[in-house]
Amino acid sequence: MAATFLRHLNETLATIEAEGLYKRERLIAGPQHGRIDVTLPAGTRDVINLCANNYLGLANHPEIVAAAKVGLDKFGFGMASVRFICGTQTLHRELEQTIAHYLGKDDAILFAACFDANGGIFEVLLGAEDAIISDSLNHASIIDGVRLSRAKRYRFLNSDMNELEDRLKEAAADGARFKLIVTDGVFSMDGYVANLPAICDLAERYGALVMVDDCHATGHIGEAGRGTPALTGVGPRVDIVTGTLGKSLGGAMGGFVAAAQPIIDLLRQRARPYLFSNSLAPAIAAGSIKAIEIARQADDRRQILSSHAVRFRSKLASAGFELLPGETPIIPVMLHDARLAQQMAAALDERGVYVAAFFFPVVPKGKARIRTQMSAALTETDVDFALDAFKDAGGAIGII
Ligand SMILES: *Cc1c(COP(=O)(O)O)cnc(C)c1O
Repeated sequence: MAATFLRHLNETLATIEAEGLYKRERLIAGPQHGRIDVTLPAGTRDVINLCANNYLGLANHPEIVAAAKVGLDKFGFGMASVRFICGTQTLHRELEQTIAHYLGKDDAILFAACFDANGGIFEVLLGAEDAIISDSLNHASIIDGVRLSRAKRYRFLNSDMNELEDRLKEAAADGARFKLIVTDGVFSMDGYVANLPAICDLAERYGALVMVDDCHATGHIGEAGRGTPALTGVGPRVDIVTGTLGKSLGGAMGGFVAAAQPIIDLLRQRARPYLFSNSLAPAIAAGSIKAIEIARQADDRRQILSSHAVRFRSKLASAGFELLPGETPIIPVMLHDARLAQQMAAALDERGVYVAAFFFPVVPKGKARIRTQMSAALTETDVDFALDAFKDAGGAIGII
């Protein structure tokens, strides 16, 4: 029995490999940054990193590391408890209030990851009488969270406001008690920004709530890094924001929901990933408080990030690469074919540029790409080095 089962798994793995979809993890021998040390059989090599979510370059910021060390010394290594038993330190409440204040909401609640925040929120807030209307490109954690809830599900094509309106009408015709529109603020694989003004207008017209997952925006997009609601001028018209401490805001780990008080209070009572999972480590909570303090004042870093994005995007385009349009620091270079994307990644690797090829199931089949991400940790020289490597590698494998 065990042998047949393992053979079955090995066959699945062989299929993944044969389709060119096998993901291999590379080893980094030091901290996350614009340049990183990658460990290879032949030794360690210094490469330019274009695939971290380290937008503001805070992942190894000395003040954040120092704050985390103070957290470690003062509050210990771990909590060994969920929040409601004995896992809430003053630090956790301070972090929640810092997030709430930063994003202009009444309160916030921490989770071990935004995956958990999105996984736990829907079943708590909505029941079988309700409707969730979700963008087709929403993150996997939203899709899973929506599946876990009993609410009726509706889907609209990415940022298609006519479809959204149709779904809102359908939900109303189906007799939905409450309706919630949910969207990523920035779509992670494409770098598109959600059309929040139109979404909020429709929400108001049809009496729906709006939830934005701003994982790829909080910290580096919008005024003071307050994310896509700030960027698009809708601010308080968004009812619920979910986000991560694992990207711009220091890049450690942890997720959150920020919203009106009763939403947060009910999540504390009922959200399963909150009730049945350990509290954030004190060092992470302490470091994340410092990260938010730095992020809100980091106009200099946001400026560097955006000038890198403009430079990289325009030079790649003029070199003949096919890009997805956009203005965020996510710049996807389209290869379409999974193998070609991996070949390109390998060719860049040989030229000292570290990127990741994305292919099914992370993106749809036929839409394989290299998603590059700019970071304030990169210098202009790094960006130009990467551009030269792209041109050289693209020529070598014959795509430009
Ligand atoms: C990264 C990401 C998540 C998951 O965040 P974690 O804190 O790493 O679990 C959720 N939603 C979106 C849109 C993301 O990009």
